Amino acid sequence: MKSSVTASQTELLQGLAASPGIVVGRALVLGEQQWEGGAPLRDAAEVEVEEQRLRRAVALAGQGLEELQITCRASFRQFVPLIAGHLLILEDPLFVERARCLIGEHMVPAETALRQALAGMEEQLAGLSDQYLRERVADVRHVANLIAARLAGAEQETVQDDPVILVGHDFSPEDVLAMDPDLVLGFVNELGGRTDHTAIVARTSGLPAVVGCAAACRRVASGDLLVLDGNRGRVLVNPDSSALAACRQEQAEQERQQRELAFFAHLPAETRQGRKITIEANLEMLEEVEPAMQYGAAGIGLFRSEFYYLTPDGPPSEELLLSIYSHLLVSFNPFPVTVRTLDVGGDKPIKGYGGRPEKNPALGLRAIRLSLQQPELFISQLRALFRAAEHGTLRIMLPMITSYNELLAAKALVRQVRDELRSQGLPHGDGVEIGMMVEVPSAVAIADSLAREVDFFSIGTNDLIQYAMAVDRGNEQVAHMYTPLHPAILRMIAQVVEAGHAAGIEVGLCGEMAGDAAILPVLLGLGLDELSMPPLAIPRIKKMVRLTDVEQAEELAAELLACPATEALQERLKAYLHSHYGLEWQGMGHETGVES
Ligand code: PEP
Ligand code: MG
Repeated sequence: MKSSVTASQTELLQGLAASPGIVVGRALVLGEQQWEGGAPLRDAAEVEVEEQRLRRAVALAGQGLEELQITCRASFRQFVPLIAGHLLILEDPLFVERARCLIGEHMVPAETALRQALAGMEEQLAGLSDQYLRERVADVRHVANLIAARLAGAEQETVQDDPVILVGHDFSPEDVLAMDPDLVLGFVNELGGRTDHTAIVARTSGLPAVVGCAAACRRVASGDLLVLDGNRGRVLVNPDSSALAACRQEQAEQERQQRELAFFAHLPAETRQGRKITIEANLEMLEEVEPAMQYGAAGIGLFRSEFYYLTPDGPPSEELLLSIYSHLLVSFNPFPVTVRTLDVGGDKPIKGYGGRPEKNPALGLRAIRLSLQQPELFISQLRALFRAAEHGTLRIMLPMITSYNELLAAKALVRQVRDELRSQGLPHGDGVEIGMMVEVPSAVAIADSLAREVDFFSIGTNDLIQYAMAVDRGNEQVAHMYTPLHPAILRMIAQVVEAGHAAGIEVGLCGEMAGDAAILPVLLGLGLDELSMPPLAIPRIKKMVRLTDVEQAEELAAELLACPATEALQERLKAYLHSHYGLEWQGMGHETGVES
């Protein structure tokens, strides 16, 4: 392992603040650079050495997978089959054994042989007509990456022992779910944006993260000492002692603040004038129920139900879904639990579903479109939901509605399922509210018509921003253009709130901006009734709500709605945060403390 650290070696990598928290630890690089093999081999002895290296890396990868499988059995059971599949790939003679043979045949180092074997597998699998098998390519690639990481890390075994900061090229949301908090302090991703699902899962799990950090895998070596600052989106590589001391001090200060904020978790979220705001949690997995309750969530404003579908086994059974939803409802009873129906596609494809690969998945067969095209998936989910509804207060939320008739078609299926359960005499809940996400500009434009057909709206700004401004939420290259503080976005939110209230329904917001303390006065001024966010954000947001004067916030919102440009809007907001809350705000992408 490299030892630390002199001032001259310190390097600063700037990325995007994906999940807050400051951590200090050694790097384990799982990125792409480890693929580079060295010079061609000269003789049989070198072939033998490379074969040994490969065998050892495969054994270490297998050991790592087995350990991960044990961790997952305890907490993320649905990923156990995925890992079992990866273990099988390690034993596949067409892959690992082929790589070993290629070392001698082509006189190349293990990394190069591994790459060649992977290319062979990719070619073979791509030629198959069965979509499920074609999709195994991603699994083979994942396993190849694991082996490559071990090849690179084999000389640095000490890195494996202590908790590490992972540095990777493109961690998926499932990768993040599988990160054991005892072994992983946080992660850095070369790709990605602040509101793609990798970042979202990190925030919900409370794992500090920096994404969109270009060339991190090249600029960091396994064993480097890192300070990962998820509040500012930056990484210090091999910091000198004074930088390290400053970070440790800030880390301690943040922990102190978080302890203080815990006091607000269970206080009511009421403005100075006594207006009640419902503050709820966004969850993806049952494991997050406990922290959400500890942080004071008054229900679940968004349960991203699709994460239980992202397994190699394909969709879960109705009975499994029934037990998951019942658990949620019982845990939060009498608070409401809002389950969003399947929102796959886009950056969350599920195995075996979704038709042909798409050039433009964000605009393709995703969310409600897939549910309507393949209703058996939707119906089994709806059946489980209605059956679970007798255990608490359920709200069903339809994702990505773009037209009036699409909403009517989805509601017709909802009615059909309820009637079937009734005629089958199966117990199910009554009084289930049916709402929709407003996350596409077309839905904003016809919000008045849609509002008459649903019981509630929840604005999904993560998607609304990307669709309204034509900025991919997961593309770090355009991340600077992805901002909720664009006048167009604020005007859309205002329009949806007005349409919802005119129809007598509540309007919530469950995009990531709901958990940003700097934006809270704007959202209250725009008249939102409910805000749903990552659990960790709840105490801070409650504190902000309690400090807020709604009338002044309404004046602020009116001023911001009239601003022509993001920059002017940010300046005004910055001054407001300073004068009304004593906050020094650095601008979007920076954490906002609430110390007033
Ligand atoms: C959104 O789009 O704002 C949202 C909350 O849903 P997701 O992030 O899962 O797309
Ligand atoms: Mg969305």
